[in-house]
Amino acid sequence: MTVKQALARHAARLERGGVPSARLDAQWLLAHVLGMPRLEMELQPERRLTAREAATFAALAARRVRRVPLQHLVGTVSFCGIDLAVNRHVLIPRPETERLAELAGEVLRGHGPGARALDIGTGSGCLAIALALAAPGARVVALEISQSALRVARANARRNRVSARIRWAHGDARCRLPGRVGFHLIVSNPPYIATGQMAALQPEVRDHDPRRALDGGPDGLHFYRVLAVSARRRLLPGGCLMWELGDGQSDAVGAILVAAGWKVQAVHADWNGTPRIMVATVLDS
Ligand code: GLN
Repeated sequence: MTVKQALARHAARLERGGVPSARLDAQWLLAHVLGMPRLEMELQPERRLTAREAATFAALAARRVRRVPLQHLVGTVSFCGIDLAVNRHVLIPRPETERLAELAGEVLRGHGPGARALDIGTGSGCLAIALALAAPGARVVALEISQSALRVARANARRNRVSARIRWAHGDARCRLPGRVGFHLIVSNPPYIATGQMAALQPEVRDHDPRRALDGGPDGLHFYRVLAVSARRRLLPGGCLMWELGDGQSDAVGAILVAAGWKVQAVHADWNGTPRIMVATVLDS
């Protein structure tokens, strides 16, 4: 079987299985099996697959039909151009969160060398690592409730050579950190899906992302309420909070912040024009 034939067969199979972007996923999977960039593979349609390559590709495609996320099958995801390993212990980083990383990176850089950032609920470590790379003199503390996620995040930091500037802390949204350490920047992509909406999520998300990384309680706002209080105590004067919002949550989250003594400074839309990133400062700082 050639590359072209294998792609046609398995893309059709993914399509029948209802997989979104079937053709592209088939390409990513086969490129992974062949250990070559996707575009390079595309240039070799007549290349013959070994029996082993064909079998591996078929097995991966079968798992994709069962809606295992593409990123779990290939084992990595690109986030802001950074290569990150992912598995079932961490939320797969989303393009929306890249926007938060970019905006927050600029803010952190603006605080100069010695700047300190806190990432609450780091998961794969995507935000913490992107911040450390964006602001070379900065130090980052990354907080996470799941020990398994912390292992993934640590490995991702090593992979991207920023381990020396990230401190990992095991803990929840109450931000219990040793001492009185304060931060110029606090970021978070908290769980924000309302519990009742979990069942309606696409299977890749519902069945394979960690539930704990998604479920924001009955109205999806639980973590914003907790963080509005705990992050407040960790912010240095002149610092700011930047976090990701779920669909339609901008007004409600803004109100939560204002009630906790914050001032909403800006709301940035994602690539779809949906309000996604909220920036807040503290009134008396
Ligand atoms: N953005 C994710 C989704 O829509 C949710 C992540 C989160 O709850 N922070 O599936």
